[in-house]
Amino acid sequence: MFGFVKLLRPKAELRRAADLTFGGSSATFRAAMKFIDEYRDGAIVRRIADVISSITTRPWTIMEICGGQTHAIVRFGLDELLPEDITLVHGPGCPVCVTPVEMIDKAIELARRPGVILCSFGDMLRVPGSRTDLLSTKAAGGDVRMVYSPLDAVRIARENPERQVVFFAVGFETTAPPNAVAVQCAKREGLKNFTMLVSHVLVPPAIEAILSAPQNRVQGFLAAGHVCTVMGYHEYEPIARRYRVPIVVTGFEPVDILQGILMCVRQLESGGCEVENQYARSVHRAGNQPAQTLLKEVFSVVDRAWRGIGLIPRSGFALSEEYAAFDAERRFELECITAAESAECVSGLVLQGVKKPVECPAFGTRCTPEHPLGATMVSSEGACAAYYRYRPWKGTQK
Ligand code: SF4
Repeated sequence: MFGFVKLLRPKAELRRAADLTFGGSSATFRAAMKFIDEYRDGAIVRRIADVISSITTRPWTIMEICGGQTHAIVRFGLDELLPEDITLVHGPGCPVCVTPVEMIDKAIELARRPGVILCSFGDMLRVPGSRTDLLSTKAAGGDVRMVYSPLDAVRIARENPERQVVFFAVGFETTAPPNAVAVQCAKREGLKNFTMLVSHVLVPPAIEAILSAPQNRVQGFLAAGHVCTVMGYHEYEPIARRYRVPIVVTGFEPVDILQGILMCVRQLESGGCEVENQYARSVHRAGNQPAQTLLKEVFSVVDRAWRGIGLIPRSGFALSEEYAAFDAERRFELECITAAESAECVSGLVLQGVKKPVECPAFGTRCTPEHPLGATMVSSEGACAAYYRYRPWKGTQK
């Protein structure tokens, strides 16, 4: 993705990035910022952190939505550069983490059926269902195949006309367009043996659910830049107004994230509640309109259960009536499968910013990446996995 972004990054955007941070005063910064390495420049990161410290007068709690942002924060120690008054909490933007246990159980059930090939991205394979996971199901003889694109699953269906091929379609607005293309492709080709097990989720209803919860402590958000690349950010404007919170569309590199925090703190300190766009090199207010048109054709908005959080109204995509023939839940009559969450795992509270991973009693002891109790410990975007990978000693400091 970033190779593509760097080609698109015009000089005007680099100047804008400098102006947003330093008030247009840093010619050095402007000259230095070209490609990805510059977004990890330690001197620039420290300068932005100093500006944040200089303007912060009160405690603020800010949530980064995306698990990719969480990993960057923990990996690069960005939270430790901030003043004590700024608390970062981690949001629900990890697609694997919020996929309900019952959907994983349904995928496992399909993989066990004779004649079925279950295709999934690798991240899902070790996520625990209620009793086992897809990798163990594969080891026990289930035909589970790791793919890198939903179109790989379409190809597998084309090459195996005697088998039923199911693609496990999870994720946010970012992964929905390629999945929509795959099902369109299958329809155009008349493939009768391709279906999708769909568990797509949407960011804006999740932000509203977090803000509406009685235990909410989030005062500002860093929205996920890649989601807004597809959907734009106009959907966030009524939320910012209604709940009086600043929302800053933010990228994924250290300079991006600290700049997003700075923009958010500036608003918090001045009582602002607007949507701002830090990630202007990729995001426009209206988003990618051809992708949005595609999503409207292939999917319908539905109520969706989120792992650890519960049902959020109108927070997901399901296949539209026009594509109902490609819905694995209908073809294989899976609706009756239900499953319970692990009683010990508090990932739902982690995903809503109520707890940090190291505050979970099981962190690093009964729950590790080798023996995860919850998806946030095993996903490459999971908050628990980030702390375990980059700060495992924190588990002993509880
Ligand atoms: S450390 Fe493990 S048990 Fe605790 S919240 Fe994270 S995934 Fe769940």
